[in-house]
Amino acid sequence: MATILDGKAHADWMLERVREGVEARATRGLRAPGLAVVLVGEDPASQVYVRNKTAACAKVGLRSLEFRLPADTPQADLDALIDRLNADPEVDGILVQLPLPQGLDSKRALHRISPAKDVDGFHPVNQGLLLEGLPGLRPCTPSACMSLLAHHGLALKGLRAVVLGRSEIVGKPMALMLLEQHATVTIAHSRTRDLPAVCREADLLVAAVGKPGLVEGSWIKPGAVVVDVGINRVEDLVLGHRIFAAEPKKLETLRAKGSVLCGDVRFGEAMEVASAVTPVPGGVGPLTIAGLLTNALQAANG
Ligand code: NDP
Repeated sequence: MATILDGKAHADWMLERVREGVEARATRGLRAPGLAVVLVGEDPASQVYVRNKTAACAKVGLRSLEFRLPADTPQADLDALIDRLNADPEVDGILVQLPLPQGLDSKRALHRISPAKDVDGFHPVNQGLLLEGLPGLRPCTPSACMSLLAHHGLALKGLRAVVLGRSEIVGKPMALMLLEQHATVTIAHSRTRDLPAVCREADLLVAAVGKPGLVEGSWIKPGAVVVDVGINRVEDLVLGHRIFAAEPKKLETLRAKGSVLCGDVRFGEAMEVASAVTPVPGGVGPLTIAGLLTNALQAANG
């Protein structure tokens, strides 16, 4: 049976480091870091994320500033708000919650944020710094995953790592961070041939695809470490029967509640093959917010 890599516990550890950092600033007479969150429209999932971020900020002593704009906000108004936040000395970090409503250009918004305040690490300047292996603000999800792996003492040097997914937010930066730590990295995606065989080569498998239960137990090399970034809501009972065969409790929840959260990996099957697995929920999800607040502190400290 694999070890469960508890993301919630590691997120609490990371948040405690942030709280200490905020306290250390206070003893030097510096104000609490300020994180501005811009939410455009009424996307329910985004509202939950923003609420969780605000609560986490309060827990560690960060000042959270929320800016809510209607879904029909013109791009020029969003640009103007970002410009104002870029110029505000009380704001150390700016986060524009994605996805933006239709009609708004998210790349344009993200590129407008000052790289020094880009706590999501999505600005091309920060992505370029990561590519060069230089310090900068790095994307929260992969950097928090790296922190989790380091905390569990996983030696990455020489390891065969496979990253499923090549998004700018997770897959690509994750692959770069693993490469920086001397892993031998393969990036797989929707056009990869014989995905199961590619996955079976991995000592470390990171799944960031967004397809519930895509990774079966038979795709995992015995003893591998599996990091499941995917967060998917399953409502279909037929799909549930297929992917939760080794997780009767999940199937029960799906039947009782009509939906259940799961990752890209069949957790129950992975637990029987891997040496360590992150669960969903309670794995990478909580780590991402901890990574964001770590970045906000870093941005404030300059
Ligand atoms: P994207 O949709 O941007 O990227 C998905 C990637 O998966 C693409 O590169 C795509 O390939 C690849 N892919 C899609 N289908 C397949 C397939 N059948 N086989 C192999 N590869 C496939 O997603 P994100 O990177 O933004 O997010 C991925 C998942 O992680 C989502 O479930 C998201 O909700 C979750 N997530 C979780 C976070 C957390 O805090 N835990 C934070 C961020 C994301 P191609 O490029 O060829 O299209």
